[in-house]
Amino acid sequence: MSEIRKHYFLPEYCIISEERAKRPSDFAEAVGDSEELGRASCAFCEGAEEMTPLATAVYKDGKILVDTDEKRVRSWDFRCFPNRYPALSPVPAFFELSENVWETRPGFGFHEVIVESPVHGNKLANFSDKELSGLMGVYRDRTSHYRAHENIRYVSLFKNSGKAAGASLNHPHSQLLALPLLPPLLEKELHAIREEEKCPYCTLLEKERTSERLIRENSEWTAFAPYCSASPFEVWVLPKKHVSWLGDCSEEALFSLGEMLRDVLRAYEKVLKNPPYNYMFFQLFETPEYHLNLRLLPRLSRIAGFEMNTGIYINTISPERAASYLKRERRPGE
Ligand SMILES: [Zn+2]
Ligand SMILES: [Zn+2]
Repeated sequence: MSEIRKHYFLPEYCIISEERAKRPSDFAEAVGDSEELGRASCAFCEGAEEMTPLATAVYKDGKILVDTDEKRVRSWDFRCFPNRYPALSPVPAFFELSENVWETRPGFGFHEVIVESPVHGNKLANFSDKELSGLMGVYRDRTSHYRAHENIRYVSLFKNSGKAAGASLNHPHSQLLALPLLPPLLEKELHAIREEEKCPYCTLLEKERTSERLIRENSEWTAFAPYCSASPFEVWVLPKKHVSWLGDCSEEALFSLGEMLRDVLRAYEKVLKNPPYNYMFFQLFETPEYHLNLRLLPRLSRIAGFEMNTGIYINTISPERAASYLKRERRPGE
């Protein structure tokens, strides 16, 4: 059983979830990054549907189906199911304050895997338009699904790609954690947004559209290297229209989001030679003043003592230079 803990003095939460690392040897870092990672016994591959928990949403030929004990859906496009080793689980959401120094409550929440393709080793950078817009639709639907749950306040939607980014399998997938609380990161941001007269993301868009940090634009989205990039080649993708979550995006906007994501990932492939990366959606469905954004981070540097001591990140390439490489899709030195 996992727990969500909060310390009153330091306004932070942590999730204690020992189920996710069963043996001390699980902490030892495996060496090497392999394209074949996990192919032999991959539970995400088409045909291995029995190896996962029952799917809660299976996308097939434009329909959304579910698995039953008797029948698992085959030949699917996208497949969503509960994580077998969830960080959080759907236990009752009530809790009691233990003392006034810290609190512990049951680790309530949902942890879902979104398999992005039936094909092992497939890459988003090589997805067709149809596969990409389908996937963006899945992101929107699954956020919407958990938003409807009365005890859910935030949906964390992200992708880890490559071992250094936290992926244990090389089968394309994203993850979703639905939380009963607003994360401190978003709480802080929201507080700052409410201090401003105008949405700071809208202001940022206006500035970055003409800055040297601009990477590309399409009909609905703008991609740029943020002014305070925490790590090399960080990219933010913002909708040009102020929307606070994926559910507010039109079909056209989702389509061009897929295109933009592929463009940025292709630029990463060319410039950085298939780096491990994370991307995550920042979205709030209870607060229209929030401005949806997608952040991409290639994992090229490590968080070490200084970063953990100060919360200040040392970045060895300026966002202006990173943008110039990503724009032209040249490798540094070329
Ligand atoms: Zn696979
Ligand atoms: Zn805005």
